[in-house]
Amino acid sequence: MKNVYVALGSNIEPREEHLSRAIDMLQEHAEIAVVKKSSIYETAPVGYTDQADFLNMVVQLDTSSSAIELLTICQTIERNLGRKREIRFGPRTIDLDILIYNQENSKTERLTVPHPRMHERAFVLIPLAEIEPNICVPNWSKSVTDLISELSPEDMKDVTKWTQNESGNE
Ligand code: AMP
Repeated sequence: MKNVYVALGSNIEPREEHLSRAIDMLQEHAEIAVVKKSSIYETAPVGYTDQADFLNMVVQLDTSSSAIELLTICQTIERNLGRKREIRFGPRTIDLDILIYNQENSKTERLTVPHPRMHERAFVLIPLAEIEPNICVPNWSKSVTDLISELSPEDMKDVTKWTQNESGNE
């Protein structure tokens, strides 16, 4: 079994339902077990900022699938939940990124693990730290906590724990 961390994000309503349906689809796959789930965080968009806030979370999986098979499974889930690729980094019903695949360091045309931008994304590192603060992130050879300590307060300020009641709109 391979130990894997996957980040999920959605900024099209119903955002929470998109996250939970994607997790159900991962869990229903014969070669995947969802081991841990972080809390859900509400985060401001980065990069292309003229879009709605995201809900983000991270899950830990056990899987017998290869990294590339897992990417195909994630992309099938994205398609099944109606994701259309219109604007790069733009609004999405669901986004699934493989963050860490069993301490592997590899880069192919379709897949880079660890995810090449994870070290600079508070919306990924904060939920990952909630479930696995001490795991070593290959490539940077640093713990998640160490990577977070390199982020600026500006990077951190737009990631807040989300609860359904506070949001009032789901
Ligand atoms: P995105 O628009 O963020 O979903 O990016 C998807 C593209 O990134 C796809 O073409 C994937 O093949 C590629 N990709 C490269 N590395 C990864 C990764 N670690 N997890 C998910 N997608 C990846």
